[in-house]
Amino acid sequence: MRVYLIFMQELIIGLGSNLGDRRENIEKAIALIGERVCRVAVVSSMVETEPWGFKSGNNFLNCAILIRDEPVSDPELLQGAAGMWRPHQIIKILQAIELEFGRIRTGVYTDRTIDLDILFYGNEIINDTELSVPHPKLHERDFILVSLMELCPDKVHPVIGETIREINNHRKGNVTPR
Ligand code: ADP
Ligand code: MG
Repeated sequence: MRVYLIFMQELIIGLGSNLGDRRENIEKAIALIGERVCRVAVVSSMVETEPWGFKSGNNFLNCAILIRDEPVSDPELLQGAAGMWRPHQIIKILQAIELEFGRIRTGVYTDRTIDLDILFYGNEIINDTELSVPHPKLHERDFILVSLMELCPDKVHPVIGETIREINNHRKGNVTPR
């Protein structure tokens, strides 16, 4: 049997929802990412969090997913495989999925059916008008750190120069998986 390798940087995406059936929104979004970007290797636990940066009675469910190089036996899977994607293409795919969930982008923090953020793309550092990677708020948000502690505690943040574990230890996070 021939084995092909989907080559890509390790991609970590954060997901959040605080409107509608939050768990279902997140699960559907993960399935769509699996179809349109690349098979999802690991899904973190979900954490329930209060809105960050705005007031709302609707709490968020959040989680993060990991996509990485993997051998596949079916060359069909290489079609449009994630190895071909650059981060700017990935964010366009994610934003299209957000729109399909009826997400209205107002430019201010507000309730949303689904929020899809690129947290890491390997060790790449991107800062332009469309994209900041690693996600600039990643190290300030306990719920992201909780998910990253499950997925990649030893990953070194390429800007901060510390592992997720070290960054997490510096914070007094009190978010627990559920
Ligand atoms: P947030 O995710 O911070 O709550 P939004 O989802 O409303 O905010 O995103 C606002 C803008 O952030 C988007 O237009 C997008 O282009 C930009 N952006 C910059 N970096 C990223 C990233 N790493 N992941 C997702 N969106 C990003
Ligand atoms: Mg977002």
